[in-house]
Amino acid sequence: MAKKPKIYKNYINGRWVNSKSDETFKNRNPANWDEIIGIFPKSKKEDVEDAVSAAKEAFPKWRKVPAPKRGEILRKVAELLVERKEEIAKLMTKEMGKIIKETRGDVQEGIDTAFYAFGEGRRLFGETTPSELPNKVCITTRQPIGVCGIISPWNFPIAIPTWKIFPALLCGNTVVFKPATATPACGGKLVEILEDAGIPKGVVNIVYGSGREVGEAILSHKDVRLVSFTGSSLVGRRIAEICGKGLKRCSLELGGKNGQIVLDDANLYLAVDGALWGAFGTTGQRCTAMSRLIVQKGIYSKFIDKFVERAKSLKIGNGLNESVEMGPLINESQRETVHKYVEIGKKEGARLLYGGKFYEKGSCKKGWFYEPTVFVDVGPNFRIAQEEIFGPVVSVIEVKDIDEAIEVINNSFYGLSSSIYTQNVNLAFKAAEQIEAGITYVNGPTIGAECHLPFGGVKDTGNGHREGGWTVYDIFTEWKTVYVDYSAKLQKAQIDT
Ligand code: NAP
Ligand code: MG
Repeated sequence: MAKKPKIYKNYINGRWVNSKSDETFKNRNPANWDEIIGIFPKSKKEDVEDAVSAAKEAFPKWRKVPAPKRGEILRKVAELLVERKEEIAKLMTKEMGKIIKETRGDVQEGIDTAFYAFGEGRRLFGETTPSELPNKVCITTRQPIGVCGIISPWNFPIAIPTWKIFPALLCGNTVVFKPATATPACGGKLVEILEDAGIPKGVVNIVYGSGREVGEAILSHKDVRLVSFTGSSLVGRRIAEICGKGLKRCSLELGGKNGQIVLDDANLYLAVDGALWGAFGTTGQRCTAMSRLIVQKGIYSKFIDKFVERAKSLKIGNGLNESVEMGPLINESQRETVHKYVEIGKKEGARLLYGGKFYEKGSCKKGWFYEPTVFVDVGPNFRIAQEEIFGPVVSVIEVKDIDEAIEVINNSFYGLSSSIYTQNVNLAFKAAEQIEAGITYVNGPTIGAECHLPFGGVKDTGNGHREGGWTVYDIFTEWKTVYVDYSAKLQKAQIDT
């Protein structure tokens, strides 16, 4: 008999509460749509108002807790994530479909981010510089901003919220968190852990519900001082617009159309391994997924043969099975989108070499599975080479040399991740310098960012911020400049010379 789905609640001001509307929504397993994961409150503006006022009230006290003490709570969070890693990974595979090895990795990223934030509690450096006047010191410190709205996507349901929430808290901010509608259970797990680690009431609040209702209410609330968003460029523009009107800080991590370049001198097997992982890892549903494969003509046919042969042999199925290599897409509408792009690709004149259909073998009939799909003869301006598909679809583009490869890779509105396979150090550095992207991997796939390094992209991928590493602390703090004059007389900057 099927287990009864768990009933989830919002967490506001330290209490688990229903939405005021009492309406709910369900969440299903994308590998088996008969399985309901949980039932969640469909919250409204009033619930957001409660959460923001709790966060606002908690802020003055939380900001006074010394940063190393705030860090201690995040250390405890890290330890609880370690303890519950397997349980959360399994829940995540059921909730969003990616394979268990990847969901363990997703939780691990949260663990690493929590330990990093713990350490940062004893750093959070400001700077001191000389004054232009005698007997005067100038120092800068970092101050928290206030209530932060955190809006996250479904493809990294633990890692992405932790990238935002942990640094926000460490810096002394309070949080109202809206997880993606497709992965609310993981969001809830994270907040449960924060509660168990001893986060004071009101400091973190979760409000479930749609972007349209809950997301919009967060954006437009006057007491939300900052919005940190990861998701599509379409929604990102909307967020920037509303935040712009309210003069709120907003940091945006948006879409990608990432390319992997393979030059004639590349290690063929390594480049094929990287292309497979980049294209079909997370079923292509990563912001850093590789969807444009830019291959030099000398290695082209050998490379494509190997790549397609390996794509054909990928094991597709329920990600809880340890031997499965690719899970389903997140939901029906995403599968429809992927299929629509396959049709577009065919009409544009690209040649479908493999895939292009729903995958419905055996128990996969009841899931949103799709075949790994490879198009060749793709023109760099085709829609399938320009628009983010967010599925297991690769567009292969043949080029004559490195210069054309760089021109093709830069022919994109996006600029998140990129990769080049070559044994030639001169060409590798040339690519690293000239590719317009926030991240370039040399002899590695487009995916695989580490939590202690800046993460983000150029052009339509964002608005200039970088999460990860030390740079995310610039998002969640305001600089305060303090001048101390111990000359015991009036000194005038720029005038006393
Ligand atoms: P999305 O549709 O843009 O949604 C992201 C989040 O925004 C969800 O929580 C969504 O709520 C919410 N939202 C939707 N409309 C809103 C509105 N009007 N106001 C406020 N919030 C709103 O993106 P997604 O489909 O979840 O994720 C896929 C996209 O994320 C891809 O484009 C991918 O490239 C990008 N992504 C980027 C990065 C990066 O770091 N650059 C990382 C991962 C993913 P609902 O869930 O209720 O719709
Ligand atoms: Mg969406």
